[in-house]
Amino acid sequence: MTILLLGSGGREHALAWKMLQSSKCTSLFVAPGNAGTATIAKNVDLNPNDFDAVKAFVLQEKVAMVVVGPEDPLVLGIYDFFKNDSQINHIPVIGPSKVGAQLEGSKEFAKEFLVKHNIPTARYESFTKETVEKGCLFLETLDAPYVLKADGLAAGKGVLILSDLEEAKTELRNMLVGAKFGQASSKVVIEEFLDGIELSCFVLTDGKSYKVLPTAKDYKRIGEGDTGLNTGGMGAVSPVPFADAVLLEKIETRIVKPTIAGLQKDGIEYKGFVFIGLINVKGEPMVIEYNVRMGDPETEVVMPRLKSDLVEIFEAIGNQELEKITLEIDERAATTIMVVSGGYPEDYEKGKEIFGLENITDSIPFHAGTKLENGKVVTNGGRVIAVTSYGNDFQEAIKKSYQSIAKLQFDKMYFRRDIGKDL
Ligand code: AMP
Repeated sequence: MTILLLGSGGREHALAWKMLQSSKCTSLFVAPGNAGTATIAKNVDLNPNDFDAVKAFVLQEKVAMVVVGPEDPLVLGIYDFFKNDSQINHIPVIGPSKVGAQLEGSKEFAKEFLVKHNIPTARYESFTKETVEKGCLFLETLDAPYVLKADGLAAGKGVLILSDLEEAKTELRNMLVGAKFGQASSKVVIEEFLDGIELSCFVLTDGKSYKVLPTAKDYKRIGEGDTGLNTGGMGAVSPVPFADAVLLEKIETRIVKPTIAGLQKDGIEYKGFVFIGLINVKGEPMVIEYNVRMGDPETEVVMPRLKSDLVEIFEAIGNQELEKITLEIDERAATTIMVVSGGYPEDYEKGKEIFGLENITDSIPFHAGTKLENGKVVTNGGRVIAVTSYGNDFQEAIKKSYQSIAKLQFDKMYFRRDIGKDL
């Protein structure tokens, strides 16, 4: 079948790489894609948020399945757009419905869902411009540090963690009254700070049953020792060494099961990935966020560990027959290290030629911000290449990724040298 994958990052290169291993995938388009997807599939110059253009392309190319990488088209309602159009409503869209996507699109919606379905999460209250002073009083009832979350999508920047009460009150006013994150911070969730180690759990669901994918841990900060600004992610490891059988069992029974049951109870259609951000608080997993798509760079370690046919899984999701599928997982560890443009996540330059990609033989270089220019691969974003490797354990995999990175070169290239050192 012909498949259209929406997105352009390392996540999409990894999903494309995995789908192309399936004999069911005879033709794959990636919109808009990057230099990596261009070498294995066909890139299409199409904006994933322009649903009319997506529809026209799907009809023209007889696309039989649409897989959505990033959150924006999901939150904008691409699933419902297809469902409500008789010309294309037979084509499965892998992702949640518009209301399901609110689990990521609105922090308040997610918190209400968690509380309603008795899923462990931090105590919270939400506030608007009209209730800003009540928000300040609520902050006084909490202990430092203070967690402020813009309700809407803010490109991963909408969460502030502040150690000082007065600063927290000022930032709350900046968000609500000063529209610090625009419309996204017209509502703010204030929640209790959870002290523990983060990990991510990935689930596939057809809305009725679910399958748990391997866990992963990502490294958010730009600097070594987890310092400096937050980024989209500087590396990832799978499996998570501290996620033992006891913790995994708790995650499944207390979080995954009630999440899927909650979707069903609330009548929310959902046919895609659920990414559950967790904090392990002294052995008790608690939810800090839902995302309604795979993580990036976690996809670059989770997909390589999935042995099963991903297209077959997506088909089963479309037909709500996921329960018939048995997931096969590679026992090996996988790690990825993100090579970025110097200056990221602040200002950085683009268009730098990338040398040495062809010399990488022991790892998989998943392209993120790259593009082809006159036959050359050049940088086209902050995060440039995710270098993924397998190993018998994560230390071996990390060593391979660093050996492969040594073969890569571009102007002002940067990467963290401490991925996995904390584990
Ligand atoms: P979120 O977008 O909700 O995942 O928040 C972004 C980051 O803020 C998370 O990855 C955590 O590192 C941190 N964070 C969010 N909520 C909390 C919390 N309640 N306690 C501690 N850290 C948090």
